[in-house]
Amino acid sequence: MSVTSSAPAARTALVTGGSRGIGAAIALRLAQDGADVAITYVANEDAAQEVVRKIEATGRRGLALRADSADPADAAGVVERTVAGLGGRLDILVNNAGIGLLGPLEYFPVADVGQLLAVNVQGVFLTTQAAATKLARGGRIVTIGSCMAQRVPGPGGTLYATSKAALIGLTKALARELGERGITANIVHPGPIDTDMNPADGPYAAGQSAMTALGRFGAADEVASMVAFLSSDEAAYVTGAEFSVDGGHAA
Ligand code: NDP
Repeated sequence: MSVTSSAPAARTALVTGGSRGIGAAIALRLAQDGADVAITYVANEDAAQEVVRKIEATGRRGLALRADSADPADAAGVVERTVAGLGGRLDILVNNAGIGLLGPLEYFPVADVGQLLAVNVQGVFLTTQAAATKLARGGRIVTIGSCMAQRVPGPGGTLYATSKAALIGLTKALARELGERGITANIVHPGPIDTDMNPADGPYAAGQSAMTALGRFGAADEVASMVAFLSSDEAAYVTGAEFSVDGGHAA
């Protein structure tokens, strides 16, 4: 759908892993707040197109791009595809795509080590590196970490926590590298959020709820609210910072 000439110039956002869960909620919220939004997916094209339909229903433009974050060419190339597909600019990057391979340290397969780091760290780095040259002055980078990177993680979370902790370092370094262009970089750490990755009726859900002060899972929309704030003009003096959206997760 085209934007009327009287509307303010739309910001353009790229949300990786926007076909489902937290990323889909973020993409829709950014569109509701006035951004044209590109999302990436790796397997679920139908779900991605459904998110694009919802984005377009807000009056903004949506774009679904198949891009495997584990593939270096895909991870970097998605930025240029976003800029080319949504009118030549990029204002907001949300590094959301991530996988949650869990398992005991002693038996964690080497192949899973490579895959998890490729998606959760290498992919984020390469997409951000490509975005750094394209982001407009005053641009926003918001990365999705995890409460498991901040505290002693649950069983089996050694490499996942490692990967998400790497993103804290990345975020703080980006704040320094890009600050002189008014670009901010922040990281949001969700607690247990009801998605396909971590369903609220899953086998370990009750234990996760009990670890939060609020005694429940969060909704993807509740993470999207924080991302929307950090992506807004209101957050221009917020950078290099960590934000928990975790219901008061302990441990
Ligand atoms: P989901 O598994 O529900 O959704 C994952 C999304 O990422 C999908 O859109 C999926 O695309 C996409 N994706 C997965 N692998 C790749 C890849 N290799 N390349 C590109 N896209 C990919 O996850 P959540 O929404 O729960 O998680 C989103 C983020 O939040 C992740 O970084 C996760 O680590 C983090 N997080 C989640 C928590 C939770 O409790 N849910 C808690 C803390 C952090 P497709 O549909 O095509 O598969």
